[in-house]
This record gives sequence, structure tokens and C-alpha cells, in this order.
Amino acid sequence: MFTSLAGRVVVVTGGTRGIGRGIAAVFARNGARVLITGRDTDTARQAAEELDALAARPGEVSFVAADVSSREDCRRMAAVATERLGGIDVLCANAGIFPSARLADITEDTVDQVLGTNLKGTVFSVQACLPALARSGRGRVILISSITGPITGYPGWTGYGATKAGQLGFMRTAALELAPSSITVNALLPGNIVTGSTAGAGPEFQTTMAASIPLGKLGTVEDVGHAALFLATEEAGYITGQTLVIDGGQVLPEVPQAVQAARPR
Ligand code: NDP
Repeated sequence: MFTSLAGRVVVVTGGTRGIGRGIAAVFARNGARVLITGRDTDTARQAAEELDALAARPGEVSFVAADVSSREDCRRMAAVATERLGGIDVLCANAGIFPSARLADITEDTVDQVLGTNLKGTVFSVQACLPALARSGRGRVILISSITGPITGYPGWTGYGATKAGQLGFMRTAALELAPSSITVNALLPGNIVTGSTAGAGPEFQTTMAASIPLGKLGTVEDVGHAALFLATEEAGYITGQTLVIDGGQVLPEVPQAVQAARPR
């Protein structure tokens, strides 16, 4: 049994949809006080209301509209958390975009957008929360990276993969710099997780993808949420600068046939 996280203040960037919303739901169900962010105010407001309905402590989930690619917005996000909730114990830097464009065609705008949200957004959101995380005395930073970039590749995702690998470079030095403040910095590397985006790719994509995953299914947003919850516990306090892959074994096969070969005939 892990020590309860009831009452801890958790900020989840991009917590209005998809994986971020799943992470926020898991923390809210476990009694945390959760602030979610996203750029779209209406989506954020509705998500906060729906998440609050699941919360162990009603009235503890709220939102602030903020763009992580803006340092000013990140500072405002941290200020809202501090003023409204009294501090920040956990930051889940999850907000991300994944525009698909082949290397031959990728535009300067697309490169700027994906670097701005995924990489600058990571740096700015962590930087803005630092004073509050240090005051917490047990601050936790949980970056949502991906298997794409750090471990695997996929056509169309040179820019995206670069940002997801870049987050890990950021993590290793940040973990060193922040250790004296008792802040840990770790990264989750999800594989294929069912979200609005992957569901939109259609049942055929999901079936083909599931067949390539040793555990035979795509992940859920709660699978990622539970891993984040673990990294936020007291008991995970000695883990820093590390990565945790959440992919149903997707990166394991040497060749695609290895997945089929392992299944009963
Ligand atoms: P979604 O598109 O479902 O959700 C993205 C969230 O981020 C939304 O809340 C969105 O709100 C917010 N967001 C996007 N851009 C910004 C911005 N500039 N500033 C603030 N918020 C922003 O994405 P996923 O849930 O699929 O992905 C979340 C994270 O998980 C990403 O970092 C992604 O790389 C990673 N990931 C996802 C995988 C998957 O299978 N889905 C696999 C591996 C990693 P709004 O648009 O209103 O700003």
C-alpha cells in the first residue's frame, strides 16, 4: 500500500483531453487537488467539471487556460496554482502536439510549432513551477515523452520524435540540477494509447496496431495515469532521471514476426 497523495497539488498541462485528462482523473480519484491546463477555455472548463465529478474530494479540480509555448502563460499557470491551491507538489508536463509531415516536406512553421509546444513547453512549464516545487520539499516532475523518438521511429514524425527525445536530454540535466531541492524528474514513454486522436484513426488502425503489441491491445489513458501516480508517491522518492515505458511490450520484438511467434498456435 502506497502512502496516500490526498491533498497534494498536481498540475497537469494539457489535462483537458487524452492522456493528460487520464492522468488528472487518476490523481483526482486519489484525493489530489488538480489544476488542468489547455489553450481552449471551453474544453478546459468542461473537462474540469467532469473530472471534479469523479474526484475523491469534490471541488478540488479546476482549470486555467494557458499555452505552454509561452513563458508568460507558464508563469501565470504556476501563479494560479500557488494562489488558488497554496503551492505545487507535482507537475505533469504532458501538453503536446504531433503534426505529421515527411522530412522532405516539413515546413518551418510546423517545426517551430512542434518544438515550441513539446520542447520549449516542457522547459517553460518546469521552470515556472520550480519555486513552488522546491517549497513543497518533495516536488515531482513527470514528463510525458513517448516511445517515438527515444526508442522508435515512424514516417512523418521526425520533428515530433526529435522533441520527445529532446525531453529526455532535458530531464537528465534537470534531475541533476533539482536534486538538491529534493525535486525528482522522471519521464513516461507511452506507446499507443487510445485517445480521441487514435480513435479517430479508425478501427482498422487499432486492430493492426494491437496485433503488433505483445499484450495484444492498445493502452488506456489510465495506464499512463497510474504510472504517473506511482512516480508521485513517497515510495518513488528515490527515483530520478529515469524513464518508464508504458507500451504493452511494443518495443520488445526484434522483428514483427516475434509477436506472432510468441502466441499460442
Ligand atoms: P491530445 O491531442 O489528446 O491532448 C493534448 C492536450 O494538450 C490537450 O489538452 C490540448 O489542449 C493540450 N495542448 C496542446 N497544445 C498545447 C499548448 N501549446 N499549450 C497548452 N496545452 C496544449 O494528445 P494526447 O493525449 O494523445 O498526447 C498527450 C501527450 O502524450 C503528448 O505529449 C504526446 O506526445 C504524448 N503521447 C501520446 C501518445 C498517444 O498514443 N496518444 C503516445 C505517446 C506519447 P488544447 O488543444 O486546448 O490546448
